[in-house]
Amino acid sequence: MSDKVHQGHRARKRFGQNFLNDPYIIDGIVSAINPQSGENLVEIGPGLGALTEPVTEQVDHLNVVELDRDLAARLRSHPFMGRKLTVHEADAMAFDFAELAKQGPLRIFGNLPYNVSTPLMFHLFSFADQVQDMHFMLQKEVVNRLAAGPGTKAYGRLTVMAQYYCQVIPVLEVPPSAFKPAPKVDSAVVRLVPHKTLPHPVTNLSWLERVCREGFNQRRKTIRNCFKSLVSVDTLTELGIDPSLRPEHMTLAQFSSLANWLDANHS
Ligand code: SAM
Repeated sequence: MSDKVHQGHRARKRFGQNFLNDPYIIDGIVSAINPQSGENLVEIGPGLGALTEPVTEQVDHLNVVELDRDLAARLRSHPFMGRKLTVHEADAMAFDFAELAKQGPLRIFGNLPYNVSTPLMFHLFSFADQVQDMHFMLQKEVVNRLAAGPGTKAYGRLTVMAQYYCQVIPVLEVPPSAFKPAPKVDSAVVRLVPHKTLPHPVTNLSWLERVCREGFNQRRKTIRNCFKSLVSVDTLTELGIDPSLRPEHMTLAQFSSLANWLDANHS
């Protein structure tokens, strides 16, 4: 049988379908999630149910969001899992997670489709205040970016926005052989725990997004040159930001203080 056919389903590349096929890894992920009955668990991209099945063994109910119509139908009619699942056949990137949060703080997990994982995470961050925690399988490189520190190559817009909202904890590394079909890249599982109180809140999120975008789109420029149309060297210095460094050396606290200064001083 073709490597692309798994449990009678032909994997669809456009939906980022790489199905988990290693009981040891599946067990490790479910232990990391540690689902408890009564919790409001939501899985993104349940697929053929590799994570769904062991999680439903531990809880009474699970919401799942699956884009593939065939897989959504398969899950609905599953003999054991079906009755515990509410299957939302939908695009998770446009899904209103706030609707599900009415049932309690969300515990979101999933082996995410890698082709959309970054925009999907940005969508999820907008619900961070309604989320207890999230566990995601991602490309290892993306987990490295989420967890990176200033001054490193992996540090970027995704790092700053993720750490603005969440504590980032890498959990487990996963080789390509754990999936069917095997992806070309290494994977890793990460736990994201939204801060109860934001450590560096901004008054206007769009300024934080703008300084991150401009800072990381021009990595080779100095901070002074990168932001020269927005802020003077004196102000940068007053904010405790060294204008001669590159934006990738700015901490989350510095990005936030620059965003707050801009919000207070620009219309
Ligand atoms: N959870 C399964 C597993 O671990 O074997 C499948 C993981 S597979 C990497 C990604 C899953 O996400 C697939 O089932 C795919 O159909 C689904 N998917 C892809 N894009 C999606 C989207 N935008 N919204 C919801 N589900 C999506």
